Amino acid sequence: MKHDPNCLFCKIVDRKIPAKLIHNDEMAIAFEDINPQAPSHILIVPNEHISDIQSMKEGERELIGHLFFVARNIAAARGLDKGGYRLVINNGRDAGQAVFHIHLHLLSGRAFAWPPG
Ligand code: 5GP
Ligand code: ZN
Repeated sequence: MKHDPNCLFCKIVDRKIPAKLIHNDEMAIAFEDINPQAPSHILIVPNEHISDIQSMKEGERELIGHLFFVARNIAAARGLDKGGYRLVINNGRDAGQAVFHIHLHLLSGRAFAWPPG
C-alpha cells in the first residue's frame, strides 16, 4: 500500500495523529474535520496515499467509489440524508486543496449556496 511518512492524512490513517474517528475499514477511514464548515463535516479518506484525482490509477476505481459508499452509509446512519448533504473533493491548488491525500468532504446540517465560492 502506498504511504507517505510526511503526509498528514497518512499519519491519521496510521493513528500517529489523533482524530475523531467515525468509521474505518480495510480501504478507508472517516473522521471529523478539525475546522468544520457545517454542523456536520466529515472527511472520508483512503488508507492508501493517493495525492489527488489526477494521480488515480485504473486499479483504484473501486477504492474511489468506496469513498462515496462510505459517505452514503454515514449519511444514512446519522440521518444526514433527510435534509441532504454536499460531497466535495477539492482537487488542486485553485480548488483549495490543502492536504494532498485524496479526501471526500461530507458536509451537512445547513443549506449550501450554489454556485460554490
Ligand atoms: P482540503 O482543503 O485539502 O480539501 O481539505 C483539508 C481539510 O482537512 C480541511 O477541511 C481541514 O480543516 C482538514 N484538516 C487539516 N488538518 C487536519 C487535522 O489535523 N485533523 C483533522 N481532523 N482535519 C484536518
Ligand atoms: Zn497520505
